[in-house]
Amino acid sequence: MSKKITTVCGDIEPKDLGVTSLHEHTYLDMSISREFMKRYFPDIPKEKLAFRPENYTFLKSGTYLMSNDLAEVDDEEFLIKEYTYFKEAGGKSVCDCSPCGSGGDINRIVSLSKKLDLNIICATGIYTLTSRPPELLGKDDAFYYNYFKNEVNNGRDGTDIRPGMLKCAIATMDANGIMDGELAGVRACGKLSGETGLSVHIHTDPNIPGELVVETAKLAISSGAEPDKVHICHMDNRLCADVPVASYLTDKNLARNVSVETQKQLLDLGVTIGFDTFGMPLTNDNYFVTEDIDRLKALLILLDEGYENQITVGCDFSNKLLGRSYGSHGVARSLEYLIPMLKKYNKESAIQKIFVENPARILAY
Ligand SMILES: [Zn+2]
Repeated sequence: MSKKITTVCGDIEPKDLGVTSLHEHTYLDMSISREFMKRYFPDIPKEKLAFRPENYTFLKSGTYLMSNDLAEVDDEEFLIKEYTYFKEAGGKSVCDCSPCGSGGDINRIVSLSKKLDLNIICATGIYTLTSRPPELLGKDDAFYYNYFKNEVNNGRDGTDIRPGMLKCAIATMDANGIMDGELAGVRACGKLSGETGLSVHIHTDPNIPGELVVETAKLAISSGAEPDKVHICHMDNRLCADVPVASYLTDKNLARNVSVETQKQLLDLGVTIGFDTFGMPLTNDNYFVTEDIDRLKALLILLDEGYENQITVGCDFSNKLLGRSYGSHGVARSLEYLIPMLKKYNKESAIQKIFVENPARILAY
């Protein structure tokens, strides 16, 4: 039987996927993690978290995660406008990577897909420990496996709308390493991937050390997933972290640069990686936040070294602060920035791979 890709509007042939972003969000509800974050930073004045132009710069320091106005994306007019830019730039398909407990109303995602004439692939799975609803907390591997399997077979959130990908996350650590509750999601998704052929997409926080990201990719494989069906998200948001800001500021001979060592270790396992935060406007005084020029440099290095079959791109479009409507690059950024730059730097042959062929191969099952 030939392979298919499952979108929220039904199955399509891989050849019909077209230009694809493998990591975005549409309707989204991050209110559980917002409440968790607020407990950690109780002193931030409420008025600074309001989504108003005078607060945009402050919110881009990461505090947007605590804003009541930004934790939810439920505005159809906004999503239509922003994803129309994506379509105008040539985009045809997106993965909405929100797993159970943080995704928006799946019926509204179907309606958005139809109104935009945009393929949307949704996920089942679980996110970080700090964003899970109580009914998905503290469960074992078998519970998660059965929960995801039911959604794959019957549909998400009690509907008959089926997910086309699996999602899990590593973000929370204690003295022993990544919390087992998060690794349980990796093991459950890895096993289900091995049985179904659906791809496993693993969110990675930049605070998780590179060697533990590599170990987690190996765990997904040893749980059953084929290496080419394991996709490690956000491998472009840690590129500049090797040089600490304090060393940079106090050593006049120390330059900042990109490092792709973790990325290469992952690629050499046969897994795929996402450079999926293009256009992210975040700022931080204590950590070198990756900028698009760094993402491009790292991408050019990896393409030069022959990894063009294992990289995909996107913007992780997840709240209004990232929208063009509010002064940021928006969800079309990966297309609008990268396509001309890859042509300019003689990597035109990679464009079809990273935007079309790799996403179709990863998602087809
Ligand atoms: Zn995301």
